[in-house]
Amino acid sequence: MILEVLKFPDPRLREKSDEVKDFSSTRSLSANMLETMYAENGIGLAAPQVGELHRLLVVDCRPRDTKGRYTIEDVSKLEAQIDQPLVIINPRLIRQEGKTTFEEGCLSVPTFFDTVERAQLIELEYQDLAGKPCRLVTDGLLAIVIQHEMDHLEGTLFIDHLSLVKSNKIKNQIRKHGYPEKKKKGEEELEPVGTSSRRKL
Ligand SMILES: [Zn+2]
Repeated sequence: MILEVLKFPDPRLREKSDEVKDFSSTRSLSANMLETMYAENGIGLAAPQVGELHRLLVVDCRPRDTKGRYTIEDVSKLEAQIDQPLVIINPRLIRQEGKTTFEEGCLSVPTFFDTVERAQLIELEYQDLAGKPCRLVTDGLLAIVIQHEMDHLEGTLFIDHLSLVKSNKIKNQIRKHGYPEKKKKGEEELEPVGTSSRRKL
């Protein structure tokens, strides 16, 4: 089932999400979130973006060609070891190393993209769909997407990371004029997904 993705300035995007303790509905929620993320051509989605204030996120940032087929280029050795799509519940960063930048977008702030600085390598503790404790170490685009989605759990958006001038410009523009009208189906071409191109997270 495709869910409605909340858009800035919806106040629900500013809430802090709760720890998942009951794992009985995580399977259906994450399945719907993945379906929604793919339908919107995104590579990550956090539960608060669909109005569910739970510490749960889904990611699939494997490189794809213009027809949506998976390719093997542009992934780091660490990324290649991790199966995707990934469902991450109650994540906790236990290590952050280095710095990297990427031109980020967000399904909750459609049509806007800007460069954000994140840690280059992360180590993460989390739980899977069944509540089993897991740990991963990654870098590359996967590390960027996970950090972006974890921000959503705290009510933070990528536009909050920009300079105050840039951030306010985007926020004021959206508050005043809303978002540009969505292109009709078929008009929006699928961009190839690689670490070099900007993505909706
Ligand atoms: Zn986002």
